[in-house]
Amino acid sequence: MPDIAHEGTATTQGGAPQKVLRIDNVVKRFGDNVVLDHISFDVNKHEVVALLGPSGSGKSTLMKCVNMLERVNDGQIWLGETDITDPRINQDECRKRIGVVFQQFNLFPHMTVLNNVTLAARKVFKWSRADAEEKAMALLKRIGMDQKAREYPDRLSGGQQQRVAICRALMGDPELLLLDEVTSALDPMLVGEVLEMVSELKDQGATILMATHEMSFAHKAADRIVLLRRGKVAENGTPADVMDKATDPETRAFFHSYN
Ligand code: ADP
Ligand code: MG
Repeated sequence: MPDIAHEGTATTQGGAPQKVLRIDNVVKRFGDNVVLDHISFDVNKHEVVALLGPSGSGKSTLMKCVNMLERVNDGQIWLGETDITDPRINQDECRKRIGVVFQQFNLFPHMTVLNNVTLAARKVFKWSRADAEEKAMALLKRIGMDQKAREYPDRLSGGQQQRVAICRALMGDPELLLLDEVTSALDPMLVGEVLEMVSELKDQGATILMATHEMSFAHKAADRIVLLRRGKVAENGTPADVMDKATDPETRAFFHSYN
């Protein structure tokens, strides 16, 4: 069975957490609109960090900066030891180290589940078809979807499609998994199965940054909450501290709005 957790321990010799992602003073503007205004936070190895914030607070923009789909105007983003905001780096090589799943339109409708899951592994990682299919089938089996490998996406529920999309993102054993509102487009009935898969990945040691509006899941499953507001990190702490014990009135109002 493929191993999602990477070798090694979560801490370095000194006991400090190993940082998979380090966002350091990132600024991102669209014209005059300062969407990310000196954002800094880390994601440590094996951590699930829930990125919260109202619609338009910059969650997706930040995800896109991490995935190098948008360029930052200032600051740095480090993936392990690599400054991925350095224009000299090989973006394709860095992207191989990150798995990404978006809200919707993740699968190609004209390709079977198996071909969807193996496509990038074959084209980008240059794996043989046999190797890619072996890994894909193992991942699909783990979520009980191996029987659907030859189906087309429209034969699957939205929840199944998102779980397949997560499998695809896991093909290269990414150091970091970015999940951008992966349940937001789903019928409420189908949200649970996708969140359950995220919980299982966490248990297996994955490192995940997930933008979500699923507050009870964030409370239960996230190690840390980062709350964005007006381009800044308004809160960064444990779910208990940020969601239950916050004193900031705006933070309290934000969480109240979900009740
Ligand atoms: P969230 O994901 O938290 O809902 P987004 O990152 O999608 O927020 O958007 C943050 C802000 O950035 C919004 O004001 C949005 O209009 C703006 N924005 C996002 N992408 C672009 C773009 N490509 N061009 C111009 N403005 C953008
Ligand atoms: Mg978004």
